[in-house]
Amino acid sequence: MPRREILDRIQKYVDPFRVATGNGFRLNSVDPADTCGLQLGKGEAAELLARGTQWLAEEQDMLYAQDRWSLLLVFQAMDAAGKDGTIKHVMSGVNPQGCQVFSFKQPSREDLDHDFMWRYVKCLPERGRIGIFNRSYYEEVLVVRVHPEVLERQRLPAADVGKKIWDQRLADIAHFEDYLTRQGTIILKFFLHLSREEQKKRFMQRLDRPHKHWKFSAADIRERGFWADYMHAFEEAIRATASPRAPWFVVPADNKWFTRLIVAAAIVETVEKLDLSYPKIDAAKKKELAAARAALAREK
Ligand code: ATP
Ligand code: MG
Repeated sequence: MPRREILDRIQKYVDPFRVATGNGFRLNSVDPADTCGLQLGKGEAAELLARGTQWLAEEQDMLYAQDRWSLLLVFQAMDAAGKDGTIKHVMSGVNPQGCQVFSFKQPSREDLDHDFMWRYVKCLPERGRIGIFNRSYYEEVLVVRVHPEVLERQRLPAADVGKKIWDQRLADIAHFEDYLTRQGTIILKFFLHLSREEQKKRFMQRLDRPHKHWKFSAADIRERGFWADYMHAFEEAIRATASPRAPWFVVPADNKWFTRLIVAAAIVETVEKLDLSYPKIDAAKKKELAAARAALAREK
């Protein structure tokens, strides 16, 4: 099937989950168990995904050669939604030299001595590269919003910690992203939307399988208790920061195969639209290449 055609098909699946204007967005408009009526076997889904990752690898090679754009992929989700697995699978074909993953955990003392964006800015992708944020500056309006004691640790002047702090932070994030998109950074933000029931199932599996015990943390169970607060914070974040140039994708996450396909498709579709090509060679360069060829041919 020609790529154009595949792209048209992909678009049909990605569109329902793209949020490019936040006004009026409601989280409950997306069903975490949705698969768009697709019922693929494991093998079929894996094969489709493999094609997508291969395609992405080719696009990434041109992105690197062009050295004009960079791609920032932001992943946010509740625990066990499959961020790690999605990143691993979707990026599996990409040249490691053109791609970097940063996982943001609790801030260090040094981080806390700076403005909240500081540690994220340091990790932004260079031109020509793909940067993946596994958690991101959005934690500053998620976990920090849900737990007042985390905000406390940031030691902000009291006058700046008012009722409007979250709206202000969200506006700051939206402006920051506007700025980046005017600097050649393409931003895609993924919220892997997991249901509370599916999370419970996955936690249970971690407890049942010894090789998954390392993934289990009692803190995850505690955070589950704040589910409604997190959903509210996510909804507010998406509403305030979704824009055509830095859209959110609210991806159903109860079925891992579907999550991975949608994420891969959204990335491929976006990069494809850049209409990337390898840099054109000018006359001087052609001459240089011909000279090199002649020199090599003359060697004994
Ligand atoms: P996994 O559990 O799959 O290894 P993870 O991203 O959940 O991945 P953890 O080490 O379990 O990694 O958790 C990281 C923790 O760091 C999360 O609880 C998150 O809320 C917290 N965190 C991330 N950014 C911030 C921040 N800016 N301020 C406070 N806490 C943060
Ligand atoms: Mg965790």
